[in-house]
Amino acid sequence: MTLKTPKTDPERMNATLQFSCQWGCTPDGGMNRLALNDDDAIVRRWFISEAKELGCSVSLDAMGNIFAVRPGRREIPPIAVGSHLDTQPTGGRYDGILGVLAGLEILKALHEAEYETDYPIAVVVWTNEEGARFVPSCLGSSVYAGAMSLEYGHSRTDTDGVTVLHELQRHGMLGSLPASHAANPLSAHFELHIEQGPVLFEAGQAVAAVVGVQGWQWFEIALQGRGSHAGTTPYGYRRDPLIAFAKLVLAAEEIAKSHGGLCTIGRVGSAAIQSTNCVMDDVVFHLDLRHGDKSGMEKLEEAMRCEFARIVAAEDGVRIARWDTLTAVEPTVFDIKAVQCIREAVQAVGGALEDLVSGAGHDSVYTARTCPTAMCFIRCRDGISHHPSEYATPEDIAAGTEALLQAVVAYERKMAAKLAKVDE
Ligand SMILES: [Zn+2]
Repeated sequence: MTLKTPKTDPERMNATLQFSCQWGCTPDGGMNRLALNDDDAIVRRWFISEAKELGCSVSLDAMGNIFAVRPGRREIPPIAVGSHLDTQPTGGRYDGILGVLAGLEILKALHEAEYETDYPIAVVVWTNEEGARFVPSCLGSSVYAGAMSLEYGHSRTDTDGVTVLHELQRHGMLGSLPASHAANPLSAHFELHIEQGPVLFEAGQAVAAVVGVQGWQWFEIALQGRGSHAGTTPYGYRRDPLIAFAKLVLAAEEIAKSHGGLCTIGRVGSAAIQSTNCVMDDVVFHLDLRHGDKSGMEKLEEAMRCEFARIVAAEDGVRIARWDTLTAVEPTVFDIKAVQCIREAVQAVGGALEDLVSGAGHDSVYTARTCPTAMCFIRCRDGISHHPSEYATPEDIAAGTEALLQAVVAYERKMAAKLAKVDE
């Protein structure tokens, strides 16, 4: 039996995280390590050699997702800790990197304590989470989960026309494992991440369990009016879609607020040529809706559609010509048992009692479709992320890493006890 309790080393964790940021760092202290560029390849190779030194067997799948597996007493799908090493072009040192390096620190802690598990424990590096070089985001994990095909994943191109497949081959990272949860399953997936928002920072809390991820829907909506002369068209004769649009913008915010969701209009334009002295012909805009639960999202969308229709109907000669859905991702609800293990570990390290719902998408959204999944957040300064000033204190990193270790160990014990019962 194992006697020693594994424990993470805060100083080593921080030093190793900063060490790994030498590849792709920018003079302003941030990171520019786009997926599968040369720096990303170097840090991946470094990660592989570190994991091998800790006794892990390392394999890559056809999307270049890396699986470093510490053997357990049983040959069953591993319990994994995963995140990503790629960054935004003007990214920080913690988004994704924290999650992978915490996994590595957990492997070290288990190794030092000679801690034995029934389940193998894996650390997974997911390819192209950011979607900054190759659109869309979470590419490696979504192909793994079967949400996108391998052909689709391989054929994504960057702005120079270079494909994912080309880059995987160039770096020797086109793995022999199928990029599929069916062929290469995990028993669970845990992810530590910076919050990337201001909730924990505002609350003065270091760590919190995450119960799920908001769903999101993107729409492209076109309002059709009638262009006319700016100087000769009195108000009563105008069919100005921009006036209708302005009313929609204000209404949308109120609707989102009253439904406990978020709405953003991040793109506005026109299909027609615009001119200073013309009333606009049409307005085309993108609407981004977010909500933490499925029925909430449905009600939010329904309210938007009703209110938009009502407002536009009151604008003489203007109509909604088109309402297209661009993306729809349902809210993710994490696994109750996995979340509970995170919760208890968070409380053990003095973290928050309140759970969070993630505002941003993560690889865990996709693993949650294939195995029990949960996340743990640590606060980041001013809630800022995807920016060189992104920062988490060494103390918060230490608390989050230790919480993740404890959660993984507790979850493994629970699941192993279940297996033992089946054996009896
Ligand atoms: Zn991330």
